[in-house]
Amino acid sequence: MKQTTTSVLKDITNKTTGLGKRNGVSSPEHQEPPHKKRNRGVKKSDAKVDNFTPAGVIEKQLEPTFDLSFGSGNDKIDLHKNTSCKKNPDHKDFIPLEQFGVRHLPEGYGNQGLLRLVEALSKLIVLIRVDTCSSLRPKFFPDTEHKYLHFVGTTTGSGKIRFAETKTGTVSRHCLCDLCSESKTPETNWGEIKIITAAHVVFNNEEAKQTTCSFEIFGTKVVTKGGRATVDVKSDRCELICYTHDLSIISKLIKAIFYFTELHSKINKMYKSLSEKNLAILVSHPHGYPKYVTVGKWIKRQVKQRCNRTAYTKYTYTTCTCPGSSGAPVYILGKEKVWTTHPHSGSCDGHNFSGFEWENFYPGHLSPSDVTEQVSEKHLE
Ligand SMILES: [Zn+2]
Ligand SMILES: [Zn+2]
Repeated sequence: MKQTTTSVLKDITNKTTGLGKRNGVSSPEHQEPPHKKRNRGVKKSDAKVDNFTPAGVIEKQLEPTFDLSFGSGNDKIDLHKNTSCKKNPDHKDFIPLEQFGVRHLPEGYGNQGLLRLVEALSKLIVLIRVDTCSSLRPKFFPDTEHKYLHFVGTTTGSGKIRFAETKTGTVSRHCLCDLCSESKTPETNWGEIKIITAAHVVFNNEEAKQTTCSFEIFGTKVVTKGGRATVDVKSDRCELICYTHDLSIISKLIKAIFYFTELHSKINKMYKSLSEKNLAILVSHPHGYPKYVTVGKWIKRQVKQRCNRTAYTKYTYTTCTCPGSSGAPVYILGKEKVWTTHPHSGSCDGHNFSGFEWENFYPGHLSPSDVTEQVSEKHLE
């Protein structure tokens, strides 16, 4: 049984604002509401000194929006000609992947290594199209009064390929793709591709079966239909498994995944000496268009379940997103491992935020903007 004892370990709020201190632990009901803070004229760019709000408070008071794109995607190439967008009508911060260069990186980060890294990451980005909305989607996001996303027809989002492997089975343990599920001679050598996206993009197996994933790997265009989903609604994270009979795609993906992770290790070491490693890069399919890159910085990290040097974290960032970016991986420079990347979720109070994802974490990694929660040992077992 889950027993969660939430306490704010690092009561930066009290040190910073002097509000809400009771027995050394800040309590959400004693925090100044976020809207009052905004009314004081705090600029969005100054949020780093005014965002020490315990996890959950913002969600209770401000309605977030989520970056799912309604419609079946877009074959057009130029996002900048799409002026009907309410979130970013000019899309000026969205850089077409092919045009992304050193000039788009902030001062201190401009080198070819990061460009190669964005290129390597982009190979693993997937356009996800979902053709049905499950009736099992809840009315509200867990533990909030915010309406969960429901839709009619088709939606698109983004995702990242995390893992790919070949499988060998038997006539009774075979490929589970749509074709093989109904075939008398199902494939017993097949490939599985694991894709991370947001739970509000693909909610359950019913939706996974009606999901199409498209990407291109080393010149081969790939479209998979159907799949299975493992979903954590609270963390807004979904692992989607898709199938292919073309095993050459799996070997190409394995190569691309290892190249990206190795490049990340090198780049991470290269920037280790930087005092502020707050770069946050997103590669996504805004409005279902081809891949676009946006660059910003992360400004808040919520940390929970610290155990055995790992933690579940959620990031808030200035990196631009649009409908269709939901589920795209947020590349955080300074994260030790990138086998898992945080799926983009939505926006609140003028900033974008990810779902929860685990990462390696040591006490020394805490930054002044971290909001930490402790979970009882029982919960961690
Ligand atoms: Zn837009
Ligand atoms: Zn199959």
